[in-house]
Amino acid sequence: MKIFDKIKTYVKQLNEFEYNISENRKDLQEIYERNRILEQEIEERTQQLNQANKALLTLRHILDMMNSSTPLTNALDTLVESLHGEFGYLFGAIVEKVESCGQKYFLTTSYTKCHFFEAMRRYFGMDVEAVKLLCQDDGLLMRAINNGEVLSTDDIYGFIKSILPEVREERLKPIIENTKSKSLIILPLKPEAQEFGCMLVFSPRSEILEDELGFLQLFANQMELAITIADLFDKVKKQAITDPLTELYNRRFFEDSIQREAERSERLSQPFTLISLDLDHLKEINDTYGHNYGDLAIKAIGRVLKRNARSIDIPARIGGEEFNVMLPGIDSKGGMIAAERIRTAIEAESIEKVGKITASIGVSTYIEHTKSVDELLEMADQAMYRAKIGGRNRVVLAKENGRDSWQQIAIDAFMDILSKHRIPVSKELSEEIQSKLERVNTSGATIKEILYSVSDTIAQTYDPIYTDGTTKKKIALAVKLAKRLNITKEEQDNLKLAMLLYDIGNTMIPEKIFRNPNLLNEQEKDFVHKHPVIAAKEILAPISSVAEIIPIIEKHHENWDGSGYPQKLSGDEIPISSQIVLLVDSYSALTNQRSYRPARTKAEAISTIKRDAGKKWNADLVSEFIEMMKDEK
Ligand code: GH3
Ligand code: MG
Repeated sequence: MKIFDKIKTYVKQLNEFEYNISENRKDLQEIYERNRILEQEIEERTQQLNQANKALLTLRHILDMMNSSTPLTNALDTLVESLHGEFGYLFGAIVEKVESCGQKYFLTTSYTKCHFFEAMRRYFGMDVEAVKLLCQDDGLLMRAINNGEVLSTDDIYGFIKSILPEVREERLKPIIENTKSKSLIILPLKPEAQEFGCMLVFSPRSEILEDELGFLQLFANQMELAITIADLFDKVKKQAITDPLTELYNRRFFEDSIQREAERSERLSQPFTLISLDLDHLKEINDTYGHNYGDLAIKAIGRVLKRNARSIDIPARIGGEEFNVMLPGIDSKGGMIAAERIRTAIEAESIEKVGKITASIGVSTYIEHTKSVDELLEMADQAMYRAKIGGRNRVVLAKENGRDSWQQIAIDAFMDILSKHRIPVSKELSEEIQSKLERVNTSGATIKEILYSVSDTIAQTYDPIYTDGTTKKKIALAVKLAKRLNITKEEQDNLKLAMLLYDIGNTMIPEKIFRNPNLLNEQEKDFVHKHPVIAAKEILAPISSVAEIIPIIEKHHENWDGSGYPQKLSGDEIPISSQIVLLVDSYSALTNQRSYRPARTKAEAISTIKRDAGKKWNADLVSEFIEMMKDEK
């Protein structure tokens, strides 16, 4: 009995144990089932996440491209390239619809770098981008574009035959079969509702899967976004560096480029040449035929410069009728040849109504002529002015580093001042003086005579009783005095230049002041004293060839005892040339009639000067001057 009871208890315990086990198994089964569902869910989620990541990555590409201002084709290349990772596509391409000369066709703008396109390139013997694809209104491409729908075909050969009718089946079919493509998906690309073209996707499957259509659509949308943005970027970038009338580069781009080129040139010890060009007689064209014809002439120059430029040259429109061309790696000899070619090409142009046009050209070369960009620009500009003076329609090379004669510097300076309207003289007068300067080579007059007469004419604009011949007399006195003081030849030349130009700032004095017959009040006097010196400095500052005379002019109102202006310099702080200018100028003013007093005699003038020896002037200089004047009639 006892045993039975024991067995019963065991059986009971065993049953309980079994029960527990089966319960546990049920639990385990449930757990297992739940886990399976969870895993499945996780996998789906992961897949979705991967998909989203991929889309995000594509978007990243677009963003990166926008930031790096990649040209449109590069942007599309990158996108097409990223296609074949997704859904296991084999490769893809973008075809763009083009219309030119009344002909419609498609061009392949981007494509995956793969065997298929490599084989196509070999087949055509030219770049895939250059092959024109037939555009048929009822073709798959146009149908996708017109209906805005995604199309697909498993007849890849048939499709390619339809856009490339001349391909040979026995050559093409093996190429297609080699790719293992089963179908071709065509997605229309219509950024901003504009017809752009299609995206072609080669798939290893015969059918488009349900969820890949959504993806492809998303991809196409991003492609459209990239096209819109990249296109916009291209346009904006182009606008920012282009002159709208001629489509040449603009001044800003040119200035950046020449600076960069100078650095490169310096680094590699390579020259580059600058061509400065100015259209001849544009004003006359404008006046005779109207501004529109003037514009046509400017455009013609733009065309010639573009046509004659190598891909690395920078042809630019700098201002109204001024052009520059930068020729990297070209020395002055090559530069002269290029410039002459441009000159002849311009001469050969024929403008409606206007007929022939010509241009004057200056050439300067970096390192050979100077190592300063500013100086290089100015040297080309001055050479261009010489071409104008020499009779226009010609090319002139910048002068070697050696200094020009003072006469040439003076002519260039006057030309610069007048042609750039640095002083307010009437148009008529400015033209009259310019034509005087240009006659240098043709008229019998010497350069000196012309220069003196130009200086007289300018002085007469602010001093109506300034008589012809005054400049000549003043310069003669100044040079004579300089020689007595053993001043070097170079300093004498600078003195002559300074004598020609020291008064130029007077042109900036308002007419109501210099025409005032009464004595000026203190304020007016102060203005008349100080302003012209400042003005002269400003007018001459941009002309580097006269840089050496600016200090002479700037200091020619300083007195020996420090009572002058503008810096209140005294004694030897004042350059001797400045002292001579002041003395000769004062003597000349005294011996000439003023609006408020008659002319003084020579003796009266000398005694006035003598009175201020040691105060206004250096006493030694005055003695020398008086000595010298004894011989003067
Ligand atoms: P030169 O042979 O000495 O260069 O004589 P020019 O008449 O060409 O030179 P000038 O400097 O006396 O006059 C330039 C003229 O060019 C004055 C200006 O009105 C005109 N101009 C400047 N920009 C443009 C433009 O964009 N279009 C047109 N039609 N004319 C312009
Ligand atoms: Mg001109």
